Amino acid sequence: MNTNKGYVAFVGAGPGDIGLFTKKGIECLQKAEVVLYDRLANPRLLRFTSKDCTFIYCGKLPNNHIMRQEKINETLIAEALKGKYIVRLKGGDPSVFGRVGEEAEALAKYDIPFEIVPGVTSSIAASAYAGIPVTHRDYSTSFTIRTGHACKKNEASVHHEPKQSEAIGDTLAYYMGVKGLPGICENLIAQGKASDTKVAVIEWATLGKQRVVEGTLTTIVEKVKEAKLGNPALTIIGDVVQLRSSIAWFEKKSFYQKKLLIAKSTSEESMLERYFTKNGAEAYSFPTLNSIPHSYSDEELQLIVNADRLIFASVEGVGYVLSQLFDAGYDLRDLPRQIEHLSEKTRKELEKRGVRSIKSSYDKKSAIFIGEEKGIEKQAFSDNLLAFPSHFIQIDERFHEVNERLLTEDQWETVIFPNKRSVDLFLQEWPTFSEKNPTELLFATIGESVKDYAFMRGFSQIDEQVQQELDKQDWKSEC
Ligand code: SAH
Repeated sequence: MNTNKGYVAFVGAGPGDIGLFTKKGIECLQKAEVVLYDRLANPRLLRFTSKDCTFIYCGKLPNNHIMRQEKINETLIAEALKGKYIVRLKGGDPSVFGRVGEEAEALAKYDIPFEIVPGVTSSIAASAYAGIPVTHRDYSTSFTIRTGHACKKNEASVHHEPKQSEAIGDTLAYYMGVKGLPGICENLIAQGKASDTKVAVIEWATLGKQRVVEGTLTTIVEKVKEAKLGNPALTIIGDVVQLRSSIAWFEKKSFYQKKLLIAKSTSEESMLERYFTKNGAEAYSFPTLNSIPHSYSDEELQLIVNADRLIFASVEGVGYVLSQLFDAGYDLRDLPRQIEHLSEKTRKELEKRGVRSIKSSYDKKSAIFIGEEKGIEKQAFSDNLLAFPSHFIQIDERFHEVNERLLTEDQWETVIFPNKRSVDLFLQEWPTFSEKNPTELLFATIGESVKDYAFMRGFSQIDEQVQQELDKQDWKSEC
């Protein structure tokens, strides 16, 4: 194997819910130097990559220009020949209507090594999340997946011949079929499927914005039109669809279909996004941030070890300071006796590293105060504190395309502010992506002082449901 030829991992991104992404997929993304991703791959997965990884979007851009297949193949080959490790991230499973065959063949011609990492294909996932078992001992012993588009080599494949309903199969899943739905239904009836066969169309399956419309082969077209379902959507046809009435589960989640933005202030805090997503919401942390460590001079490091006490105002600061001290020849024994933390999360980080800390009492005695550059400007509570920024926060520009798409495709209702800094960053970044006045969004906060601050910055209406949920838990210790 020529190791200079780079490597391509075709990775199935799964249907949407990032909890369904594979462990192997995560490992590939962590190694990636370049990621080529499609519209249907959940872009939140890109956060698994390292800071230096390059993103190339292969989906439809706002000007409706699509990256052509030949161009994708060319890009894969060109990047691989530079010796890069590339992830080609595809929605669902790469081998199911995912053109992995064409792309892998192109690489094989150049002897570029590759692997194919499967993902959960959207028909299986959509059925599961809509409460439809694709097979069932009483209703269905076969499951067929088809595309609503014709196959290149066999234009007639969508309308193919079998005249007896048994030959058509019990449960059918149609990919890419919203436009072709009338034709699909007509043909199935013509081929002998009962016209009252149940049909479900599932849009954006497994995500908080999932919508399901149910009908029969005769009624579904009208119903889908009425509900204005669009792409991506999957059509499931068969008697198993009726089981939905008793086993639909995802739609029962308390925040199902709620569209929530989580304003971020550190590159880390995505747990609110995770929490609300698990509870059925479509949640998105914005903006995406990088933290850039500050490099301390020898004099600064000496001041740190000689300080009366150290106050850590952020989790990230702990790692940055301790590793730089270590690299400069110090270790834990050189730290000042008194170490303080502001948040529980920071306390845990210190504990992990074997450092016991106490909650800062905000007294005025001299100390070195360590945290994010802009954050500590606001937090420093006494003139006796020497502020030592450990890092600064930078907007991750690689997410520009993703933000542009996500912030305009969806009708966001509410924004959560974990702290004051997140309000500032949100207001600063929002106008780049949306013309809508951000203060028209409902909002919820962690803590009263953040609420007052959001009011001051122009937000006016609290989302009571989200606020109540936030008030149930002690998020302060996490943020
Ligand atoms: N490789 C993908 C399919 C790509 S073809 C997979 O295995 O799922 C694109 C089609 O997949 C879409 O038109 C739609 O029919 C379906 N699809 C993909 N993700 C979907 C989702 N989250 N919800 C509904 N349909 C989805």
